[in-house]
Amino acid sequence: MSRIAYVNGQYVPHKEASVHIEDRGYQFADGVYEVIPIIAGKMIDADGHLDRLWRSMNELRIEEPMKRRPMELVMREVLRKNGVETGLIYMQVTRGVAPRDHPFPADAFPSLVMTAKKTSLEKSARKAEEGVAVVTVPDIRWQRCDIKSVSLLPNILAKQEAVEKGAYEAFQVDEDGMVTEGSSTNAWIVDQDGTLITRPTNNSILAGITRAALLDLLEKNKIKFELRAFSKEELLNAREVFLTSSSSYVQPVIKVDDVVIGNGKPGSIATNLRTVFKEYMEN
Ligand code: PMP
Repeated sequence: MSRIAYVNGQYVPHKEASVHIEDRGYQFADGVYEVIPIIAGKMIDADGHLDRLWRSMNELRIEEPMKRRPMELVMREVLRKNGVETGLIYMQVTRGVAPRDHPFPADAFPSLVMTAKKTSLEKSARKAEEGVAVVTVPDIRWQRCDIKSVSLLPNILAKQEAVEKGAYEAFQVDEDGMVTEGSSTNAWIVDQDGTLITRPTNNSILAGITRAALLDLLEKNKIKFELRAFSKEELLNAREVFLTSSSSYVQPVIKVDDVVIGNGKPGSIATNLRTVFKEYMEN
């Protein structure tokens, strides 16, 4: 089955899909996006992702390219045309095509692009069994990290540093020595007393949908947690470390920089939470 993309009202072969060179997403990174996981043919937390997409558009005053219901129909059609049972749907909205000039164009119509791809749950499960390494990098991003903007250069530089150091992810650390989040994930620790800690949402991090779902599950299961910023020092001294995202789910971390976390194996709390989260997704 060859891949099909949705581009501004049309379903086109993925390798021919393109937007205009003066699309403001291309010229200025003037756009927003979402990534939604698909398990057993179902979108996970689609409402949360679409709420966040609309919030991102509103914060940047990008017009909606279509209403939410028709957008959901297009999403389903993209998944169907690509035969995605397990994978991801990617959607991007930009301010549209207009002659290059910084201010908002008067009459541009927003662009909407969607793609879908298959992913392997087994591969992700294998990674979770082994655990992954993380490096720390300075957080050099702007002050609106709550907006899921396609302007991702600092995140890309952070992830590249991780890759070059043989790590899976980079956790960003602010000027006060506090961990903000990963380049494309939210960061969590379990301290030596067994308390789960993750940063509260504000402008300094993206309000992860996986993070929110996991917090709900913690509450339902009466598992205690603290919503507070934690320092790099706490990270390095944690009993367990893990990260969450729509493409990684819950992923145990076994090494941060040169420091081995716990006994160098995925921690029991992170591993259990991955199981709880998997059940949540499957149901
Ligand atoms: N933080 C950043 C910077 C991200 O890009 C992502 C991935 N979208 C996340 C956190 C995790 O968010 P989610 O659980 O919604 O995928």
